[in-house]
Amino acid sequence: GLAFITVASSGENNIILSAGANGRLTAADVEAAAPGLRDVDAVLLQNEIPWSVTQSALQWAHQFGKRVFLNPAPARRVGRETLSMVDVLVLNETEAQVITGIQVDTPHRAETACQRLLGEGCQGVVLTLGSNGLVYQDKAGRSLRVPAFSVEVVDTTAAGDTFIGALAAIWEADADLPRALRFASAAAALTVTRAGAQESIPERGEIESFLSQVSDAEHTHLPG
Ligand code: ATP
Repeated sequence: GLAFITVASSGENNIILSAGANGRLTAADVEAAAPGLRDVDAVLLQNEIPWSVTQSALQWAHQFGKRVFLNPAPARRVGRETLSMVDVLVLNETEAQVITGIQVDTPHRAETACQRLLGEGCQGVVLTLGSNGLVYQDKAGRSLRVPAFSVEVVDTTAAGDTFIGALAAIWEADADLPRALRFASAAAALTVTRAGAQESIPERGEIESFLSQVSDAEHTHLPG
């Protein structure tokens, strides 16, 4: 696949995508690779392969009892049958609006959209709000708002992909959820300070060192 990306001076981006080989992946390819799913902890999917193939991969992952992350990007409508196989749906405001019809322009509306998505069957939802951070809700009744880190933005390309990759890597069911969301937010914050797509994605060590610097600064500024 090829992606042609324009970046505005504000750091926001637009992407024109040519699917290339990604568009030729088939359900038969997924079936051939499915036995390998036994050895994985989690399956992370998004919408840059044909939708029928994504659904097939979801079904296999679900059948093997693997944790499923779905990032429905580029945006498209996703039905109840699909959402019921998703453990963690990670989406931005545009994607949330396409799926729920709710215009996500305030954190309160973001929470309403999360409720709607939980009602459609997924176990947990992370709705990312760019520089406004994210809201998280799940079926267990947990609800969190996590602010974005304040950084100097150069290019927001790959913020969403970095976020979901870091989240899937750090996620442990029932582990420290706020810490996992903060880790993924830190990864994405580092990405937006750098130009480019893949080359702007930080290594785990860089994320940990950023988090320890931020936490040192927070402690220094605490009153008393
Ligand atoms: P993109 O399509 O540009 O890759 P996205 O629209 O899928 O991104 P966003 O909601 O823009 O995803 O960003 C994902 C996360 O990245 C946010 O929740 C936030 O933690 C972080 N992030 C994005 N933009 C900024 C920013 N300007 N400053 C700090 N963190 C940011």
